[in-house]
Amino acid sequence: MTGPSAGYDVLVLGGGVAGCVLASRLSEDPDRTVCVVEAGPDFGPDRQDWPARVLNARALPREEVWERHAPAHRIRARLLGGSSCINGCWNTWGSESDHAEWARIGGPRWTASAMEPYRLAAVEQMGLRQVPEREFSPWSRSALAAAAELGFREVDMATPGGPGYGTPLLNAFDGVRHNAAFAYLEEARSRPNLTIIGDAAVDRLDIRDGRVRGVSIEVDGRRETLRADSYLLACGTFGSPALLMRSGVGPAAHLLDVGVRPEIDLPGVGSNLTDQPGVFVPLAPTDELNAALAAKEADGDLYVSRMLVRASSGLCPDGSWDLHILPVAGPPLFGKLPPGQYEAGISAFVMNPASRGTVRLVSADRTVAPEIEPGFLTDEGGRDLAVLRSGLEIVERMAATQALGPLVGPVRDHPARDASDQDLRARLGTYWHPVGTCAMGAPDDPRAVVDSEARVRGVSNLRVVDASILPTVPAANTQLPVIAVAEMLADLIRGAA
Ligand SMILES: Cc1cc2nc3c(=O)[nH]c(=O)nc-3n(C[C@H](O)[C@H](O)[C@H](O)COP(=O)(O)OP(=O)(O)OC[C@H]3O[C@@H](n4cnc5c(N)ncnc54)[C@H](O)[C@@H]3O)c2cc1C
Repeated sequence: MTGPSAGYDVLVLGGGVAGCVLASRLSEDPDRTVCVVEAGPDFGPDRQDWPARVLNARALPREEVWERHAPAHRIRARLLGGSSCINGCWNTWGSESDHAEWARIGGPRWTASAMEPYRLAAVEQMGLRQVPEREFSPWSRSALAAAAELGFREVDMATPGGPGYGTPLLNAFDGVRHNAAFAYLEEARSRPNLTIIGDAAVDRLDIRDGRVRGVSIEVDGRRETLRADSYLLACGTFGSPALLMRSGVGPAAHLLDVGVRPEIDLPGVGSNLTDQPGVFVPLAPTDELNAALAAKEADGDLYVSRMLVRASSGLCPDGSWDLHILPVAGPPLFGKLPPGQYEAGISAFVMNPASRGTVRLVSADRTVAPEIEPGFLTDEGGRDLAVLRSGLEIVERMAATQALGPLVGPVRDHPARDASDQDLRARLGTYWHPVGTCAMGAPDDPRAVVDSEARVRGVSNLRVVDASILPTVPAANTQLPVIAVAEMLADLIRGAA
């Protein structure tokens, strides 16, 4: 490990999506020393040194994660580049009303128009691109036609253009996943003022008298203390609240329960967990569809989906959407099928859920995973369930279109109409877009963890800069919004915003 003994100007804790953006942007100034600390491996500057499974954009890798055999909703990456190394490479954007909500809480810098330069910067730096023609399977091509048949209009998925159907922007090229470590650190790595420390888990922050005095990390079985003028927490929606709580910042009663001495009583830490639940409706592929998918796979161009529909349940503001309808056909996400057979189906995801979950410590020991309760479909008014049922109706109609119907058997057991609430709860999956556990809030909001500039309440030199600060989840896949927010915060920290 290298680094100035007197400490750094900035320590970025967590080298995931947001951590890579901040480390890169802040080290552009050669006079600022920056160090990023990541619990998982840094596979280095040369792509050939990265495991093939991490580069393979046709599947979701399961090895470089915190808990290998945990339920799906707990999956989170553990390597430099974070969840951009294990995700679906889809990039979409939320609605005007999502941004209006953030701006109501955080002020003008969070409006859609103020965020626009950062959205564009994120698109450019990640090298996001349109879906190439050859990556459409007969299934995804028919799904585009099915959406048009249902009366949806074509929209640009990477802008707040309203409900409709279209294709996401991709951070993958010829089947190779282009992660945030490649996009943001490739050039930055050679800067003498940037230090990257991999395989180093942050244990806790030493917080006294409203300042972080140092951070204790474990690397190569040794414990070390790193110091900086300012600390940026980027351990993700599950890791950031856990680290704050281990450091004595969180709900005081809960901290005492797990043997942590409370330093700052912040009840919002670990609350407000918001993720997008969904239900997958399986459809039986015809022999013709299986054969067409097999041919695509043999050509090396089979992707389970290349389109989606943004739909409204009627329960969201005019001009916005609260559902993603996602048709898929290809190798199953979980489990295996015999050669030549594929899984097909359509999912409905609740994009702006009202339900909230929690992240709580089980122990003060950092090696014990936190308890993650997603709280899916627990909102009092039952709105999320109503939105889900509305989405499942669209799924059923889409499966029965002239475009898709001939490729699959009919929907069995009509989930929108006939499934009980209990059945739907049992079938829930996640879209993997958790946010909100260190939520930004107004000065008079007792649940706020950070202010509109991402500063942790009561700690003068600590910010949280990752997905956990988003007070509500946008009606989007979250990678692009998280990168854009990190770009905005980097600008702010550099004094340019
Ligand atoms: C399976 C999956 C599929 C997804 N698919 C998509 C998709 O297709 N499109 C999309 O837009 N979004 C997708 N997402 C979501 C997207 O990847 C996240 O929104 C985004 O990565 C969040 O960025 P982050 O910086 O907040 O956290 P992360 O990228 O998760 O980074 C957090 C980092 O902090 C590190 N860390 C945590 N604790 C510590 C510690 N104590 N010490 C040191 N380091 C620590 C972790 O190892 C990790 O590298 C997916 C997510 C998953 C899990």
